[in-house]
Amino acid sequence: MTIPAVEALQRLREGNRRFVAGTPSGEGVSSLARRAELVAGQQPFAIILGCSDSRVPAEIVFDQGLGDLFVIRVAGPVVAPSQIGSVEFAADRFGTRLVVVLGHSQCGAVTATLEELRRPDESHSRNLRSIVDRIRPSVEGLLKTDLGRDPDALLREAVRANVRAATNQLRHGSELIERLSEQDELLIVGAEYSLESGVVHIFDDAEVPGDDRMQVTRSRGGG
Ligand SMILES: [Zn+2]
Repeated sequence: MTIPAVEALQRLREGNRRFVAGTPSGEGVSSLARRAELVAGQQPFAIILGCSDSRVPAEIVFDQGLGDLFVIRVAGPVVAPSQIGSVEFAADRFGTRLVVVLGHSQCGAVTATLEELRRPDESHSRNLRSIVDRIRPSVEGLLKTDLGRDPDALLREAVRANVRAATNQLRHGSELIERLSEQDELLIVGAEYSLESGVVHIFDDAEVPGDDRMQVTRSRGGG
């Protein structure tokens, strides 16, 4: 049974609320019975493209269990062909309708990119550079604004800019993803996890069919 994106988003919100309150759902979600049931197949209700940071494990911050989330983790997070392919795989194979691009406060990959922009360091490996280079375009403009003088605010805005850029890249990452999005069969939203509060804030630029509350938020925001 396919779970609509609006409902999937609601499940994630409720799970994060339980996580923040310190009242996780407990044994059922990863029980022996659940494990046995999943041997036959999976139908994850959401795809999470999140950062590798050890403090932001998607299953825990959304209080979900075995078989619930299809999780792709990479520092940043950044969108490269293997991430796009992973999203395509889950959307196509399992009919998963929701993708959340999950950044977080104090992100080390974004911090490294800001440092690199200020003091280019040739000693980075080519592989690490490939991550920094994918974050760079969305954050370098911020350095030229007033934020350049406020390191904390700069990092905060850079994290958000990276999530927005990654979300956009993913939305146009492939013909398959574009087609599913156009047919309202795939919703891709950005979100930010706060290390400090444990709260996941879902960005309000998402066009969620049938979700009035989010549309109200959007129109109040002036478009
Ligand atoms: Zn990070």
